[in-house]
Amino acid sequence: MILVTGGAGYIGSHTVRALEAAGFTPVILDNFSTGHRSFVGGTPLFEADICSPSDMHSVFAKYPIEGVLHFAGKALVPESYENPELYYRTNVTGGLNLLSAMKAHGVRHLIFSSTCATYGVPESVPITEAHPQRPINPYGETKRAFERALHWFNESCGLQYLSLRYFNAAGADASGQIGEDHDPETHLIPLALDAAAGRRHDVKIFGTDYPTPDGTCLRDYIHVSDLARAHVTGLRALLDGRVKSQPINLGTGRGYSVREVVESVRRVTGREFTVRETSRREGDPPVLVAAVDRARELLEWTAVESDLDRIVASAWKWLMVRPRSN
Ligand code: UDP
Repeated sequence: MILVTGGAGYIGSHTVRALEAAGFTPVILDNFSTGHRSFVGGTPLFEADICSPSDMHSVFAKYPIEGVLHFAGKALVPESYENPELYYRTNVTGGLNLLSAMKAHGVRHLIFSSTCATYGVPESVPITEAHPQRPINPYGETKRAFERALHWFNESCGLQYLSLRYFNAAGADASGQIGEDHDPETHLIPLALDAAAGRRHDVKIFGTDYPTPDGTCLRDYIHVSDLARAHVTGLRALLDGRVKSQPINLGTGRGYSVREVVESVRRVTGREFTVRETSRREGDPPVLVAAVDRARELLEWTAVESDLDRIVASAWKWLMVRPRSN
């Protein structure tokens, strides 16, 4: 079985479905702090907290786990400034609890949800995996700290891992059963879609004075279904010993500005809504765009569902059907 920590969350739930479709048997571990019970479906569930060392030992004692996909964690930049302890405790200490339990139970394969936020402000774009990591917010710092732990567990006890550094995950599964649903929502695409749906007064553009073509930040938006598929491909390669332990970027290699995203939301939804230009948000680098050669060469993976309008259309479809949480 494959343990999926955070399997009731946004990217985790999409990956659980992709694992099942590929013939793996996942077991979800989630504490539902941000995950959704309705995302679990018929998959085995172990309700537990990665911050509890005994919970982590119990899940390995209960199930015959051969590999782990580790999504559980805190992932909001603004929240990481308000509560850095929570980020260190969950993303670093919680992760170490997992590694201790894996070591004790002889489980040696792990895929970690890492992030382009570990790079900080890039010196050059597109960003390769060899680019220096100098995170500029607590969230990125904690993700980088756990990446370093993986490196040393690999050196010292043979842990085999991939740190998948996601760029901007967005969109929703074609089934309409799962999608992005954060509370509070802080991400651009769902917020702009909320404005288009009349569920918010407006969408704000955080900063129009960045050194970019239209003054707003550029991001590399990647469809969550593309991310899910990359995890399955990465897991297979890791279990078969076809790939060495290392970080791999997951993105499209193309950046879109905040204004371009807002335009895409207008185009796809056909709705008008208010856009307010405000000051910069703390911790946002101007440009984050992935170099994607390593994923292509080692995993034979490229994004195929990540056309911006297609991402936005899938998120719009999900917004129309999802249970209302606000
Ligand atoms: N952004 C924005 N308005 C919002 C939310 C986000 O202008 O209401 C910008 C944000 O500054 C960043 C980009 O949109 O440049 C993507 O932000 P998001 O929070 O979606 O993802 P992140 O890049 O933080 O992972």
